Amino acid sequence: MKQAQPPEISPRPSACPGLWRIVAARDGGICRIKLPGGLLLADQAEAVADAAERFAGGVIEATNRGNLQIRGIGNDHRGLVEHLLAAGLGPREAAGDDVRNLMLSPLAGLDPSMLLDTRPLAGQILALLEGTPRFHELSAKFAVQLDGGEGLAMLEHPHDLWLSATQFEQRNWLVFGLAGCPVDQAVGAVPAEQGLALVRTVLQRFLDLATPEQSRMRQLLATCGVEHFIDGMDIRRDAAVSSWRRTKVPGTWLGVLAQQQGLALGVAPPLGRLTPAMLRGAARITRQWGDGSLRLSPWQSLVLTSIDPAHIELARDQLMALGMLCAPDVPLARVTACTGASGCAKAEADTKADAVTLAAQLHHGAPASVHLTACPRSCAVAHVAPATLLARASGRYDLYLRDARLPGFGRLRGANLTPEEAGAMLDLPTEHLDD
Ligand code: SF4
Repeated sequence: MKQAQPPEISPRPSACPGLWRIVAARDGGICRIKLPGGLLLADQAEAVADAAERFAGGVIEATNRGNLQIRGIGNDHRGLVEHLLAAGLGPREAAGDDVRNLMLSPLAGLDPSMLLDTRPLAGQILALLEGTPRFHELSAKFAVQLDGGEGLAMLEHPHDLWLSATQFEQRNWLVFGLAGCPVDQAVGAVPAEQGLALVRTVLQRFLDLATPEQSRMRQLLATCGVEHFIDGMDIRRDAAVSSWRRTKVPGTWLGVLAQQQGLALGVAPPLGRLTPAMLRGAARITRQWGDGSLRLSPWQSLVLTSIDPAHIELARDQLMALGMLCAPDVPLARVTACTGASGCAKAEADTKADAVTLAAQLHHGAPASVHLTACPRSCAVAHVAPATLLARASGRYDLYLRDARLPGFGRLRGANLTPEEAGAMLDLPTEHLDD
């Protein structure tokens, strides 16, 4: 694997952290490690744990795009980056770090419901993104989703381009859409073997048409429109495509998960934060009982794949002993929080601590997901949560319930609440909050 050296790298200016672009925060530097399809090998997990201890304060975060970041980094940026590169955690081309934004199901290639093993095409798309200098002009946030029809799939995060596997006339096709999710109406379709060419065409056309101010697909479409964007593209647009709908498979990302063969385990670090010991422990368990790899999910969780069914209970117990949340009915597993006052200068409140207080008020099993954000940016979630607490001062929040008819966080349910008061209001069975 080609390894780039830190001194050659001058990362583009961006507010987003990258491997080389270590962004300053209240608690030190942040480095983001982009994982191919969320995949992290056990050896790499140990390298991240070591790096977080040697070069930072030991806080590792799982992001909502299936990546990892290390927080609290001190002055030795070069040492940190070299350590991560040596573990194979860098891009194929140094300048391609930012564009490695391709989301897959955490069970890609293994899910019982999948229509297509997306991993080969995903590898080609990542190589295209990383190896094409022109695509390095794309925003660090520009993102593609490749959905193989898996049951375990994030269907709510908007992507600049999404592709979803289906079958027409007993052949594999990829329907696709722009600036949305696979539950939206498709714009067109191509035979699955033309998926890479479609991605290339869409990215080139985006760069041809977008102004410097338009870094995301939704911004471009607001002025140029979808029809103009796809004009002249060799794509299928007929009744079968327009009536296509992505089937949602009910389920959870936590606990024992079915694979086509064998079983997987979904586990979540509380509030998305891993200690080095947790990451090392997960690496040891996947090596011992699984296939030696971890997959990071868009729910800020980990999936350990191909676990020996005879030892799955033991593996789960070991992960729980590490502090992982292993069942969907654990209240803290349904609560997310942005970094908050302990690490972010923009924060009005300590959301991480308040989230723990709030979760303690949730007694009715599995509440719908609740997000605490310490400022209106809500940068820690990619879509509006069923319930959002927006900090207005330390320990004080406005509570909003998602309402598709309203912009922003939704309908104001309560103002100036303590975490305990908000928790009491939210202590309802799931169906009372999901819209
Ligand atoms: S949502 Fe606001 S306060 Fe929270 S981490 Fe992001 S910028 Fe900071």
